[in-house]
Amino acid sequence: MNTDKYKIRLEKEKNILEEELSSIGKLIGKNKDDWEASPEVEVYAQEVEDEASMSERGEDYEERSSKLRVLKSRLSDVDQALENIKNNTYGLCQKCNNQNKIEEDRLEANPAAKTCKTCMDK
Ligand SMILES: [Zn+2]
Repeated sequence: MNTDKYKIRLEKEKNILEEELSSIGKLIGKNKDDWEASPEVEVYAQEVEDEASMSERGEDYEERSSKLRVLKSRLSDVDQALENIKNNTYGLCQKCNNQNKIEEDRLEANPAAKTCKTCMDK
């Protein structure tokens, strides 16, 4: 299988994800998973509403934290897929012990897919 086109797409997505992550959080450790949502973001500076209560800010923080978690898990999928390309194991289903190849149209839709269609339906 020619993995070049998937690699390009995955690297692009990785860049976008990292950009989005750094817009709502910051890297607090050396590990690439050590992202934490910023308690305050620039957005507040533009918001002149003094009434914004602490609880509302708290909710925003929660929102950023949950978005951060989604981005982080997506980033780790993308990283894993890139790693697999490097190790020549890309496109193998991780659920049926790599016995099945992930369908190309599935990879086309999601280059970071980890399972074949059969396992996905389970
Ligand atoms: Zn499978």
